[in-house]
Amino acid sequence: MAKAKKVKQPVATVSFLESVSSNFDRAAAHTGLPKGLLAQIKACNSVYQMRFPVKIGKDYQVIEAYRVQHSHHRLPTKGGIRYSQKVHQEEVMALASLMTYKCAIVDVPFGGAKGGVKISPKEYSEHELQLITRRYTAELIRKNFIGPGIDVPAPDYGTGSREMAWILDTYVSFKGGEIDAAGCVTGKPVHQNGIQGRTEATGRGVFYGVREACSHKDDMEKLGLTPGLAGKRVAIQGFGNVGSYCAKIFQEEGDALITCIAEHDGAIYNEKGIDVPKLLKHFKKTGSILKFPGAKELPQRKKVLEIDCDILIPAALENQIRVDNAKRIKAKIVAEAANGPVTSEADAILRKKGIMVIPDMYINAGGVTVSYFEWLKNLSHMRFGRMEKRFDNQTYSNIVALVERLTGKTIGMKERDFLTRGADEVDLVRSGLEETMITAYNQIRAIKKRKRKVEDLRTAAFISALQKISSDYIALGIFP
Ligand code: NAD
Repeated sequence: MAKAKKVKQPVATVSFLESVSSNFDRAAAHTGLPKGLLAQIKACNSVYQMRFPVKIGKDYQVIEAYRVQHSHHRLPTKGGIRYSQKVHQEEVMALASLMTYKCAIVDVPFGGAKGGVKISPKEYSEHELQLITRRYTAELIRKNFIGPGIDVPAPDYGTGSREMAWILDTYVSFKGGEIDAAGCVTGKPVHQNGIQGRTEATGRGVFYGVREACSHKDDMEKLGLTPGLAGKRVAIQGFGNVGSYCAKIFQEEGDALITCIAEHDGAIYNEKGIDVPKLLKHFKKTGSILKFPGAKELPQRKKVLEIDCDILIPAALENQIRVDNAKRIKAKIVAEAANGPVTSEADAILRKKGIMVIPDMYINAGGVTVSYFEWLKNLSHMRFGRMEKRFDNQTYSNIVALVERLTGKTIGMKERDFLTRGADEVDLVRSGLEETMITAYNQIRAIKKRKRKVEDLRTAAFISALQKISSDYIALGIFP
């Protein structure tokens, strides 16, 4: 019998946590901060590893899960919950630490945290997933690892608003009467104390961040690109929450060409651009991006990373661009929508190749930014825009009426509606997100320009985070 051909598994020579640590050290060397303070910022403050039984079918399964609070310098801590068979403690620690830096970069007043449940969600029914989620939440409550002022989870890989609703319901049933209970978790359905614009927030944030990066003519010239997003060829790995919203918003609002998309079962390509709304329908109907009439299929899903394009958006998992494929990356810009998609070793190769890497801890911060807005909404017990929408509408109508009186001309209904509209919650959320992403990008860019020895945005982003976190520690009086 002929021997089965061994499939070569790609391996990362550094772990995700080692990559984060190495990137931290590179940046720390530029800060002049005391060693002890840097060590405190880097360390994970609390790691909760748990095992709990859940009845699946006729039998019990022991589920392995984690919650890591990386930094208590600001409370509550904040970070998503991942459901994946690949979850392990080091991964959750790496993700939690990225959350701390991310929150600092976008001025969201939280410490970083992350949760992980080692399951493959596709292997469980909805009822079983609910049992697992509720039991995980109960474990967090038992150990005081969840609460609006303690630690506030959100969705991540493998979870969404449905799981967040279960978490809230479990929390409320244990903590009856707690007035701010709704703020114990974010990313909830809008009708269950969620906020408009949260589901799209990470993808939309990636769009605002990349659009801002592409607006700087001198930076684009160095890459051999023209400013602006219109017509730029974009390849995306992962068509889940983050990847699909990136695809949709880059196409609809940026006029970019989405030329390649990969999912777990394959990749598709169309040099003239894939019609994203049609692909979304196809994906929903068939559960796959393959056999989509508007595109060719690539021989392997991982080829998406090496495709000739202007902007590559890895939006799946960590350790995708490694020493073994970094040399073959052809994109001019890599926007890390996923957490940790480029290993620290691969990052060095991309830097040498002159590729602009827009780092995860900045570019995917849209999710936590809008989670912050949701948390604020929950604590204020009122939706954004409720107080001022009608007032603004009346004020703008008065101005329009005055202009009409002074000019003797009448403004058409369509223009009038446009000019006099008061902002809805979703308008305010998007505007707050856009402001956050633009401001943070320019802070990072200014650090890179100011520090001659800093050659990349990741190091500059880390420096921005370290400066802000260290001043918090100093203000707390913990470090002189
Ligand atoms: P998701 O589960 O909604 O989607 C991920 C998709 O990637 C899935 O459809 C999966 O099938 C696909 N995928 C997995 N392996 C792949 C591969 N090798 N090639 C191509 N596709 C593959 O998860 P998400 O929420 O979109 O998260 C994606 C990444 O973004 C993660 O790294 C996560 O930590 C990060 N992130 C998410 C958020 C958020 O708000 N959801 C916020 C910040 C960062």
